Amino acid sequence: MHEPHDHHHDHSHAHNSPDAMLRAAEDTCHRNGTRLTTQRRLVLESLVEGKKPLGAYDLIEAMRQKTGRAPAPIAIYRALDFLKEQGFIHRLETLNAFIACPHHHDESEPVVFLICEECRSVSEATADPLASAIRSVAATQGFVAKRQVMELAGTCRACQSPVGAQP
Ligand SMILES: [Zn+2]
Ligand SMILES: [Zn+2]
Repeated sequence: MHEPHDHHHDHSHAHNSPDAMLRAAEDTCHRNGTRLTTQRRLVLESLVEGKKPLGAYDLIEAMRQKTGRAPAPIAIYRALDFLKEQGFIHRLETLNAFIACPHHHDESEPVVFLICEECRSVSEATADPLASAIRSVAATQGFVAKRQVMELAGTCRACQSPVGAQP
């Protein structure tokens, strides 16, 4: 289903094979005294394997293909809430979709999502240079930021190359 060549994405430093990511998630749950139930695991697995942002209904379809049974939307939303709280996934507000996070960072850490409008691939980058700028913007307003997420829409490197470009 997903393409074998993934030379253009930039998580080379992260152990983001599906197995490694699921194992890391299980370890984190164990440390936090929470449980990666079958349902939660299946949702996370679908997001990890999908490699692209999936909406709740994409996930229901992915689960139906895995288990032969479509879960109720409420069950999906509960699983997504849990995975989000644990820092395993992010919600992309502009797409109303979810993506697995290979980085295991704090919820308050600034991140930038680079969303390709051609192929719907999403890269996640940390935004250290932005962090202090964002902090000072917030500080001048006396605002305490909880989430510091930016979503950039555009064209990824692979989609810019003439090979495979749409005429
Ligand atoms: Zn992340
Ligand atoms: Zn692209």
